[in-house]
Amino acid sequence: MLTTKIIEKKVLIILGSGCAGLTAAIYAARGALRPLVIDGNQPGGQLTTTTDIENFPGFPDGIGGYELVDRMRKQAERFGATFVSDHIHTMRQDGNAFFLDGVTTTYEARAVIVATGASPYLLGVPGEAEYFGGKGVSICATCDGAFYRGKEVAVIGGGDSAVEEAIFLTRFCPKVYLIHRRDSLRASVPMAQRAKENPRVQIIWDSVLAEVLGNGQHVTGLRIRNVKTEAEQTLPCAGVFISVGHRPNSGFAAEILPTDEKGYFISLADDASCSPVDGVFLAGDCADSSYQQAVIAAGAGAKAAIAAERWLMRVVK
Ligand code: NAP
Repeated sequence: MLTTKIIEKKVLIILGSGCAGLTAAIYAARGALRPLVIDGNQPGGQLTTTTDIENFPGFPDGIGGYELVDRMRKQAERFGATFVSDHIHTMRQDGNAFFLDGVTTTYEARAVIVATGASPYLLGVPGEAEYFGGKGVSICATCDGAFYRGKEVAVIGGGDSAVEEAIFLTRFCPKVYLIHRRDSLRASVPMAQRAKENPRVQIIWDSVLAEVLGNGQHVTGLRIRNVKTEAEQTLPCAGVFISVGHRPNSGFAAEILPTDEKGYFISLADDASCSPVDGVFLAGDCADSSYQQAVIAAGAGAKAAIAAERWLMRVVK
């Protein structure tokens, strides 16, 4: 990786532009800190791949995920936040300054709010990598669902994301198999109920994906295994959406920020917005293994920005 020059020296940098990072940006910008937000690989974060959000307060009829983050971004820009697209591969500290190494640029800041979110897991089964991206294996029904109009597809997982993906796919697909490794869904009760009542969704219980099958060009089916009986079956389908949870995006800060055994950043026991490193603040799914909700990420972003502002007022004379 080429890191050539420092172009940005800022008081406050916010890493990540999902719900947490954008809310932090609104608060910090309103506090006249003129934050720079580094977008990362997925501007807008996970919400941009969500369909309707029904539980974000203030939207009684729901709101699209993309629209919600777009509005947040405009709100942050209105108060003076600026945005840059880059991928930070290393975060370092030297004296009072933090350095964020991007693809060709290093950014320097006195304080950093880390809101890097989490990325979807893949399963690592045969065929998954071969057919990933446009060939039948996907991690985003919102992005790719329309390509499967009129075809049968499958979703792997039993959480809210998997159920949401399955229900969304019924807009295009006559049959959506929801393949779950246990005999009850992890998804919330109303979400699970909606899947069970949808005539286009067929839940296959106690089963895992063993192999993605294809013809060299595209997915043609799945080999699935019942974990109770060990029986295997082949399921013809044109696409499979993997929705088995997320891993925190924390590796870039391994030099300075501690994580738990799953990779989530560890915060101070008495204040979840503060990392153990003075001047580094945490918000959203990268530091939250339990809740992972848009409204909670937003709240965490606001807290991190307030904590950063108070800290900067103390240390920057
Ligand atoms: P999740 O809740 O962690 O669910 C992951 C699912 O994948 C679980 O059903 C799990 O099975 C399954 N799984 C994990 N590893 C697997 C493997 N190797 N093979 C097969 N299946 C595997 O993740 P999520 O659904 O992405 O949701 C993350 C968070 O976001 C949750 O807190 C969720 O409530 C929230 N969310 C909310 C909404 C909403 O409110 N609209 C929408 C999406 C997500 P087990 O059940 O057996 O562990």
